[in-house]
Amino acid sequence: MSPRRPSLAEALSEGASDLHERGLWRSLREIEGAQGPLVRLGGREILLFCSNNYLGLADHPEVVAAAAEAARRFGASAASSRLISGHMTPHAALEATLAEWKGCEAALAFSTGYQANLGCITALVGRGDVVLSDELNHASLIDAARLSRADVAVFRHNDVGHLDALLAESRGARRALVVTESVFSMDGDTAPLADIAATARRHGAWLMVDEAHGVGVFGKTGAGLVEELGLHDAVDVQIGTLGKALGSFGAYAAGSKTLVDWLVNRARSFVFTTGLPPASAAAARAAIGICRREPERAAGLRRRARELGDRLRRSGWSVPPVESPILPVVVGSSDRAMELTRRLLERDIYVAGIRPPTVPEGTSRLRLSLMATHTDEQLDRVARAFEELAPLHAVPASGAIHDD
Ligand SMILES: *Cc1c(COP(=O)(O)O)cnc(C)c1O
Repeated sequence: MSPRRPSLAEALSEGASDLHERGLWRSLREIEGAQGPLVRLGGREILLFCSNNYLGLADHPEVVAAAAEAARRFGASAASSRLISGHMTPHAALEATLAEWKGCEAALAFSTGYQANLGCITALVGRGDVVLSDELNHASLIDAARLSRADVAVFRHNDVGHLDALLAESRGARRALVVTESVFSMDGDTAPLADIAATARRHGAWLMVDEAHGVGVFGKTGAGLVEELGLHDAVDVQIGTLGKALGSFGAYAAGSKTLVDWLVNRARSFVFTTGLPPASAAAARAAIGICRREPERAAGLRRRARELGDRLRRSGWSVPPVESPILPVVVGSSDRAMELTRRLLERDIYVAGIRPPTVPEGTSRLRLSLMATHTDEQLDRVARAFEELAPLHAVPASGAIHDD
């Protein structure tokens, strides 16, 4: 007798009801027009506070012009894997610029940050090896470590002592790879990279740092937290995305020439995928030019994020002090986060609620991210909206965030 299996429709509707009941159902919101401080959403003009367009480069005329010019000269697609015929002049130019900017021998562009992480970790470690991963690492790093078939040891967030202990326990592993973000995507805090690097080195482990939210924002020329801390030589693999502060699309890995040559051969998410569109490569390169030329963009952004964080804390919100443009307003349950997003939308302000599985249970939050192009008046408007809503939603400073 054939087994009684649910139809696809039955299985998915059961799964969907479960997500709905737990307040975890997600759906898309269509933004009309370019990513900037003001966008149209559902026919209304909305103040946007959840884009990763930190430096305001996604809609910068110079970046847009570079993309348009490259599309005209090189077409809309690389139309092939980079190893076949999809390696084009804009890729080579971008990679040379990236390598110089990051203070590395070489850099390799990937089609997304997700793929860069997947490709690097699986190309570097496998069975018999160990990946040491911060507990708050991005999903792409978690998936990559799992896919590599190496053992995975998760260390407590930013806890170098715990990392040290886990490295000591993994002495039997052939190779050890420590993986952390520089600026954590959902918390906006930064990793103690110098200590992590020293610890990794002491144990003969390699170090990979994902600068998805650090690039453009930290460092004298905006190259990231590794630049700010002068750790080029201590980090074996620097990852970053071109789709956040750099206002384009795609990602990179930077390091030694040996590393990049190995990735070209062995990173499956590089080998078996179409090359980055030439327009994206050219746009990213133009954005890097602006970062280097106008460091005041990032400096102003960080200063204003600090000021807004102070103001939100004064009105009773639970916002950890951070140095990045990401301000997590922690409210606890996912229902509360969604309610607060709705209340802000009524005021024409869009701040996305972040729920499990993106963040741990009980730490749902509004993730408020600033752009260098927000005006003072716009920052004041969001601060006032939070002040008005504070009595309804603020979590007492003493925690109570684990209520679901
Ligand atoms: C966004 C993000 C990625 C993925 O980058 P994409 O280019 O958007 O695929 C990887 N790592 C971290 C830490 C991120 O925040």
